[in-house]
Amino acid sequence: MAAALIDPRANDNEGISISDTPVKIVVGSDGEGVSFYVHPAILQKHSSFFEAALKKEWTSGPQRIVDLRDEDPGRFTLYAQWLYTGKLFTKLEPAMGGYKRHAQLYVLGEKLIDRTFLNRVMDAIISARREPGEDGKKYHPNASLSSIVYSGTPKCSPLRRFMVDCYARSGSNKSIQLHADEPAKVDHGFLMDLSAALLANRSASKNHLEEKYSHLERGIPCAYHIHEGGDLCEGATPGRGTEDGSEDKD
Ligand SMILES: [Zn+2]
Repeated sequence: MAAALIDPRANDNEGISISDTPVKIVVGSDGEGVSFYVHPAILQKHSSFFEAALKKEWTSGPQRIVDLRDEDPGRFTLYAQWLYTGKLFTKLEPAMGGYKRHAQLYVLGEKLIDRTFLNRVMDAIISARREPGEDGKKYHPNASLSSIVYSGTPKCSPLRRFMVDCYARSGSNKSIQLHADEPAKVDHGFLMDLSAALLANRSASKNHLEEKYSHLERGIPCAYHIHEGGDLCEGATPGRGTEDGSEDKD
C-alpha cells in the first residue's frame, strides 16, 4: 500500500516571527552561567512562563534577558532543542529507561508551563517503559524517582499518576522494601497514593488490572496527557478511568 501523503501546510496567518532579536536566557549557577539565545515568538508560543517573563516589566535594556540560574543548562539545552526541532534528544543505545532524566525534564516543563512539552516528555517516558532493554526485560521507574516527581509536580500531575499506576499494575513488593531503611528516598505522598490505589484494586483480577492500566502498554497514552478543552489526541480512543469510586469515613 502506498504511504499516505503528509500535507505540510498550515494556515498562512499562523506562522511565527523569526526576525526578532533572540532573547538571552542565562541558565545555571556555575560562574556566569550558560547563555542561550531563543526567538521570543517561539518562547511565547510554547511557554506561559516565558510569555509572562517577556512582558516589558520583566525585561531590561535592548537585549531582553531572562534569568534561569536555578535551572540546569543540560536540561535547558534539551528543552531549547525541542522548541526548534520537536524532538527530545534523550534516546540512548542500547535502550535504557532514562526515567530520572525525563522526570527532571517534566519538572522543568511544569516550571515553564509548557503543556505540549509536558505531553511529549510523558510520551517519551511511556515509550521508554514499553521498550525492552538489552536483556529483553521492561523496567518500571525506581520508587526513589518519586522524590523528584512529587517534589516538582502538583497534586493532580499525570506523572504522579503514571508512577502510581506502574506500581499498582505490576510493581513488586521488593521494589518498595529495597528502600525500607532509607525513607527519605521514597516520597511519603507517593506511598500514600500507592496505598490508596492498591486498596482500590484489592478485589481486581489480573485481567481487570491489565485492562485498567492498558494505556501503559499500548495505544496513545491520553490518560497521561493534559488536553486543552478536553479533546483527546488524534487517533486516541477514550480509556477507562483509573479512579475507583469507593468512599471512606473518618
Ligand atoms: Zn492525548
